[in-house]
Amino acid sequence: MAKIFCVANQKGGVGKTTSAVNLAAGLAKIGQRVLLVDLDPQGNATMGSGVDKRALELTVYDVLLENASIKEAAVHSEQVGYHVLGANRELSGAEIELVSLERRNERLKGALKAVDGDYDFVLVDCPPSLSMLTLNGLCAAHGVVVPMQCEYFALEGLTDLVNTIKQVHANMNPDLEIIGLLRVMFDPRTTLQQQVSDQLKEHFGDKVFDTVIPRNVRLAEAPSYGVPGVVFDPSAKGSKAFIAFAKEMVARIKKMRL
Ligand code: ADP
Ligand code: MG
Repeated sequence: MAKIFCVANQKGGVGKTTSAVNLAAGLAKIGQRVLLVDLDPQGNATMGSGVDKRALELTVYDVLLENASIKEAAVHSEQVGYHVLGANRELSGAEIELVSLERRNERLKGALKAVDGDYDFVLVDCPPSLSMLTLNGLCAAHGVVVPMQCEYFALEGLTDLVNTIKQVHANMNPDLEIIGLLRVMFDPRTTLQQQVSDQLKEHFGDKVFDTVIPRNVRLAEAPSYGVPGVVFDPSAKGSKAFIAFAKEMVARIKKMRL
């Protein structure tokens, strides 16, 4: 049975896509069968996984509108070692088209059921909003991974996300929980970041992942080569951190017995 995780945070530019593609690649490297679902119309996770979003015949949009199955629409990206259910600009129309349809928040969940045995992990890269697209991700998932930068306003933004997750948990998906908070783009020399990191641990305890992803230019460079940092430069500090994070995820999931 596949474990399904959303990588979500309603803020943009906090490292969701970087975390999603590098965790996917890290998991693939340690032998896990992975599907990455791109739920952001920007298609950055698609491009960052070596898949040209403009050349795709079928995307997550077709899956949400039930015009295609995941088996038909997902592609295997050889360079990264995992499958990608891609997205492009077409997806921005889905929000409006889904409004009048039934089970509009449960489209992804339904589609994933059919490929449950094909993967160990499904990772969903969410858009920077608490929209219907993100809701589709949250309804389908067992848990949420929240990447965050240790900055002052990060904690404030977290409240909205935590409330949304609670609501989805109560009304739509009783399985859903926060798996963990992932500290990303971390610079240990910055006192404020260290302070916010300590506050996070105080508030959220072991919901804060042990692995910390450092700020690392190789991770930022990798997308222009169409691969995650873990593939582009496995020896870079950031890549090593994501491999460690993949191992931590596997261990944490075992403990949780999802
Ligand atoms: P989101 O998906 O939340 O909008 P991204 O993953 O696209 O965020 O990251 C935003 C920017 O920060 C990108 O330019 C990305 O390359 C860069 N970035 C993300 N994580 C790191 C990191 N650990 N070190 C350096 N740059 C990073
Ligand atoms: Mg993104």
